[in-house]
Amino acid sequence: MANPIKFRPHHLLCMLTYKGKGYTDAFTDNFDKLMERLNAQPTELEICKGPDDICAPRLCDPTDTNCHCYNDDLTETDEKALADIKKIDGLKDLDYGKMIYLTPDLIKELRASYKTNAIRTACEGCEWVDLCSEIAKNNFEDTKLK
Ligand code: SF4
Repeated sequence: MANPIKFRPHHLLCMLTYKGKGYTDAFTDNFDKLMERLNAQPTELEICKGPDDICAPRLCDPTDTNCHCYNDDLTETDEKALADIKKIDGLKDLDYGKMIYLTPDLIKELRASYKTNAIRTACEGCEWVDLCSEIAKNNFEDTKLK
């Protein structure tokens, strides 16, 4: 099996609505590739603290002066997302350092909960919240993660 992809908790939400919009071209190119990997086969995700494989291009981009990946408020966002995602059947023991096996059924379940706002505490105050709400309302149409 391929190496797990490192995911900080709130990115388990962001992956559900990602349509190709993001902070920089390097960020979206990398995000696109990760979603292609997830689409190709059920994949293990390792839940990590702090910056993950989605953040990676921002950390080494000197032109990205607004990089927030190490900020405390994002750590809190992760805590909120983790608490919410633990409500999903089979994920109550999820924690940092643990793995999630991301299957199409689990993606479906996460999206159903996302759509009812049951797991979106972490989205409060996010700059993308209106866009993500609209995408959920449209049944995640044209998102990169299938
Ligand atoms: S609103 Fe923000 S935190 Fe929530 S899924 Fe969208 S981008 Fe991620």
